[in-house]
Amino acid sequence: MSERRHGPDEGAPASLDPADWSEFRATAHKVLDEVIDYLADVRSRPPWQPVPTEIKEWLRAPLNESSRDLESVCREISANILPYPSGNIHPRFFGWVQGGGTADGLIDAMYQAAMNVNVGGRDHVAVYVERQVVDWFRSLCDLPEGTSGLLVTGTSMATLIALAVARQRHPAEHRHRLRFYASSEVHVSVSKALTLLGFDDGALARIDVEPDLSMSVADLQTHVARDRATGAIPCAVIGTAGTASTGAIDDLSRIADVCEAHALWFHVDAAIGIATRFHPELRALTVGIERADSVAFDCHKWLQVQYDAGCLLVRDGTAHLAAFRTPGNYLTRSARGISAGQPWFCDLGPELSRGFRALRVWLTLSRHGSAEIGRLVHASHLLARHLAELVLARADLELLAPVSLATVCFRCTLPAAEPAEIDELNREIVTRLQERGIAVPSLTSVGGKLAIRVNIMNHRTTRSDVVELLRSVVEMRDELVGSR
Ligand SMILES: *Cc1c(COP(=O)(O)O)cnc(C)c1O
Repeated sequence: MSERRHGPDEGAPASLDPADWSEFRATAHKVLDEVIDYLADVRSRPPWQPVPTEIKEWLRAPLNESSRDLESVCREISANILPYPSGNIHPRFFGWVQGGGTADGLIDAMYQAAMNVNVGGRDHVAVYVERQVVDWFRSLCDLPEGTSGLLVTGTSMATLIALAVARQRHPAEHRHRLRFYASSEVHVSVSKALTLLGFDDGALARIDVEPDLSMSVADLQTHVARDRATGAIPCAVIGTAGTASTGAIDDLSRIADVCEAHALWFHVDAAIGIATRFHPELRALTVGIERADSVAFDCHKWLQVQYDAGCLLVRDGTAHLAAFRTPGNYLTRSARGISAGQPWFCDLGPELSRGFRALRVWLTLSRHGSAEIGRLVHASHLLARHLAELVLARADLELLAPVSLATVCFRCTLPAAEPAEIDELNREIVTRLQERGIAVPSLTSVGGKLAIRVNIMNHRTTRSDVVELLRSVVEMRDELVGSR
């Protein structure tokens, strides 16, 4: 196994495979041990620390010309790169709706790198793994057989593809009159997708929200009727199952009624809310998702699959295929052999070469099973409710939005202070918690008030992490107010 490998001809350059496999094996085993320790010891490190200036400097060096020893490259990665992550694997990372990944993800990364398959199409096992994953989610969403779908980087890409399919149903000469509808709390990925599809800002109507921050269905109806009357063509409604800012859930069933009445495409952004489908009680929150024409969601958030892994489901598989299928003479299909197996995933989206994302989703879901995932999702929902109760119990803290899923938005109050001063206090508290490596909450704005936003999306987070976070917020507040 350790004999020297040569290129095709004596004297020709060797391939990129190791010259000595046993040496490679020893280094790879060392790295595996190192990353296992890295995960096991996650609590002993701060969630985040800034990248030191010397390392930023080092990362501006030009590319070396000669090859290097693998062991020394790995030493550089461990010393200079591993210690400075964004921090989302840490149990006290609460920012920006990010998942924590699992130890099993290490195993997936090895299998995946070894196979290095391109899942753009053709007939090989990765295609069947991806189809199975898509079908598991189809069934979790109670969508019918014949629904198509694919894995993509994330909900942003899934939404872009979904809205492209919705647009393609209209003749080209009408497309400039199409209108889209979403609540004012909708994720920025929707307006980004519409811009990429060639629509201007006016194509997206931002519908008012109810006090619980879900879309006002009455206002939606008003907008659709008004657009109809003025010659615009209502095209699609984007409902959100768990907004990024507060976790608010639109009334999917009532939106589906409106879509049905006006023959509109119903797209659901379930980036976060997909997780509810795994738990018998939480599932009720996303009733109506089964009436969607398309659903976009993330496996890399609350479902704990390693980055990146988003997914799109499209009820009308034929429309999906019609929007993206493009023949090319170098992509000739056959009934047999490796060029069989239609439709190819490249017929369902803009990407031709695609990695084997499906394996990490498949591994995480089948390893843990739907019940364990559901239990974890429910546990973080309960932690979020617990944090909200702790906030409500204090007169010096203010809960800014109801807790629907696992996001808690609150702030420290400051008697007799200007609104800008209160915002600044809360901003500084969050920054200090991050800089001191205590915890990583993020910020959002709720009803014009700056909020400390805590997303409990990590399976490693415990009740004491949540209690500790709140204690630290109050401690920072006292420190800052004391120094006023
Ligand atoms: C995260 C998120 C998105 C975007 O998903 P990406 O995976 O980051 O592309 C869209 N909508 C909501 C509600 C989100 O939370």
